Amino acid sequence: MRAQPTASHYINGAYVDDPEGAAIESRYPATGEVIARLNAASHRTVNAAVAAARDGFRVWAATPPAERGAVLRRAADILRARNRELSELETLDTGKPLQETLVADAASGADCLDYFGGLTRTLTGEHIDLGGSFAYTRREPLGVVAAIGAWNYPIQIACWKAAPALACGNAVVFKPSELTPLSALRLAEALTEAGLPAGVFNVVQGYGDTGAHLVSHPEVAKVSLTGSVPTGVKVAELAAKTLKHVTLELGGKSPLIVFDDADVENAVSAAINANFYSTGQICSNGTRVFVQKGIKEAFLRRLAERTAKARLGDPLDEETHIGPLVSRAQMDKVLAYMQLGRNEGARLVCGGGPAEVASLPEGYFVQPTVFADVADHMRIAREEIFGPVMCVIDFDTEDEAVARANATEFGLAAGVFTRDLARGHRVVAKLHAGTCWINTYNLTPIEMPFGGYKHSGIGRENGHAAIEHYSQVKSVYVELGDVASAY
Ligand code: NAD
Repeated sequence: MRAQPTASHYINGAYVDDPEGAAIESRYPATGEVIARLNAASHRTVNAAVAAARDGFRVWAATPPAERGAVLRRAADILRARNRELSELETLDTGKPLQETLVADAASGADCLDYFGGLTRTLTGEHIDLGGSFAYTRREPLGVVAAIGAWNYPIQIACWKAAPALACGNAVVFKPSELTPLSALRLAEALTEAGLPAGVFNVVQGYGDTGAHLVSHPEVAKVSLTGSVPTGVKVAELAAKTLKHVTLELGGKSPLIVFDDADVENAVSAAINANFYSTGQICSNGTRVFVQKGIKEAFLRRLAERTAKARLGDPLDEETHIGPLVSRAQMDKVLAYMQLGRNEGARLVCGGGPAEVASLPEGYFVQPTVFADVADHMRIAREEIFGPVMCVIDFDTEDEAVARANATEFGLAAGVFTRDLARGHRVVAKLHAGTCWINTYNLTPIEMPFGGYKHSGIGRENGHAAIEHYSQVKSVYVELGDVASAY
């Protein structure tokens, strides 16, 4: 597997280097080894990417929607044909187990391209009867979209932004996270091979300052960020200066509420998926697991038994369930929260520290960790940790669970486990969260809108809802009679 790309950036349909930019190293988190060396984009390179996108936009916006759709669907086929190679690359760049990347990363990206490729022919306006005269609306693209990704789902995030943007006729400049720069370049290659005109999808590498320059660029019409809340605030402030459209997919501290009539095995499965999948590095994770007191001990017993069976190890081994965290800095942060949980008086059920993988002594591995008897005021129950740390919290009544679940500035996601479906619907209707699950957790099919309430974000990705965020409506009034005038 060759991880080193041909060059750092992809602009106007070709690889471009820019040695002026700061060095970026991609490391394999299981070993700490450098697998690729790149450079950040200087302002000159960002400007070149935006200029290419501006020119590409003119061509693409004039391309018939059916043709746009065909290009996106061909790109989906290319990603699927290369799924193993792309998955291995994503595993090297992120440290996520191949068992996951084979099904959740490029595969989700391909689904997204396929879905929005299918939608292009349905992007119609409406006809409005005004009695004699009429009006109609046109759904038009916004222009150049600046898209900025996080490191946990690099190619999936790139596709979740590019597919709806391109379906609507926009051009894109995508900046991956500096920690995971590689797979977006492969997406750019696939889009070019699928027939996307040069300049319509560009990739520039860089740190936050490159992102900020891109967001501030006067020729960018729309910004879409996936990242943390503090970055979201900065990006919204920068975008406000030139009144750009903004989509923000930010962090969370989501509740998963398990009532005592729930199927315990399924609830434990969901809690495991909601905390340990991708080594806990998922924005929508259900990290506050509220368990009704009647099943608390049974739940904790099965959770500990099943977590003990998790196989930590080399992420390139398909038998591995849990890989390392993405970076040493992330590992240090997560370990500090594990210590904090103990200091705050939570009861450690399992895990709680670094994990030893004998063959990979330099890897950023930590143990999947469960704290019980967690109180709402503890920092481990309030702050996004972004690692495999589950907080189990007791509750007595439905109203109490809802009130405590909502007592957070975040509102990305929530889950409810109960055999009483009336209660399931009643509770999700009261939860302040953009994406909710009843009797499952963290499934994000492309058909379903995804996004946050409160500080977890603005706008929606996926589903028909995403179209609203990558297009604008033009109203056209057509007079069929005479024009009345007072004089
Ligand atoms: P981050 O906020 O540190 O960085 C996100 C991206 O923003 C990176 O590409 C970074 O270079 C860029 N950036 C940083 N400062 C910037 C600035 N001033 N202007 C423009 N761009 C800037 O986030 P991260 O550590 O990469 O990712 C983890 C966070 O992302 C978590 O909070 C997680 O919850 C969130 N996330 C959210 C979703 C979602 O869909 N809601 C999905 C994945 C991750």
